[in-house]
Amino acid sequence: MIKQRLLTIHQALPKNVSLVAVSKTKPLEAIQEAYDAGQRVFGENKVQEMVEKHEALPHDIQWHFIGHLQTNKVKYIAPFVEMIHAVDSFKLVQEINKQAAKNKRIIRCLLQFHIAEEESKFGLTIDEAVHIAQNTSNFPHIEFAGVMGMATFTDNTEQVRAEFRSLNAIFNTLKKEYFNQHASFTEISMGMSGDYLIAIEEGSTIVRIGSTLFGTR
Ligand SMILES: *Cc1c(COP(=O)(O)O)cnc(C)c1O
Repeated sequence: MIKQRLLTIHQALPKNVSLVAVSKTKPLEAIQEAYDAGQRVFGENKVQEMVEKHEALPHDIQWHFIGHLQTNKVKYIAPFVEMIHAVDSFKLVQEINKQAAKNKRIIRCLLQFHIAEEESKFGLTIDEAVHIAQNTSNFPHIEFAGVMGMATFTDNTEQVRAEFRSLNAIFNTLKKEYFNQHASFTEISMGMSGDYLIAIEEGSTIVRIGSTLFGTR
């Protein structure tokens, strides 16, 4: 079942778009099933849950943290996390760099922007992102890999499309003005089960898919 769904999703993804299988709340067996079908990249949004799954499952899984990350919890995932999608403050950047250094690692990070109409306290302003961009030399243990955002949860596909387009524009501006020397700044993480096809049309390079793959939560 999961294997078949994985195949169907992969057939819809262009070569330059990668899949984060969002396994939050799902049991180890479901993740193992996707792993056995070839999936290696999984996404979680709770620190403790990700740590437990990391310990229990094969160690070549690449874990992406996709939720809001509190600075005091970075230390728990720094030893193994592959990518942090939702970097939403300068303080968090400092802490990720510090914990990555302690673990002698480089952690890939995406800058999160609030593109949806819904209220949210998470996401950087452009000014905050510029402040981070102007200080990257202070963060040698972070690889700035791009941007991330979530569209409004709505049936209005034109609105969703416009929001994804705005994230793409933010990415292009940051890349051109601040990250042009960063070869690794290439990713636009946008698109979930309900809207990933639109996201791909608007330039997504990473889609984060949960319920379409693992079933509803
Ligand atoms: C849960 C979650 C997803 C996956 O959502 P689905 O609608 O189940 O595909 C993607 N991104 C983030 C940030 C999430 O929290």
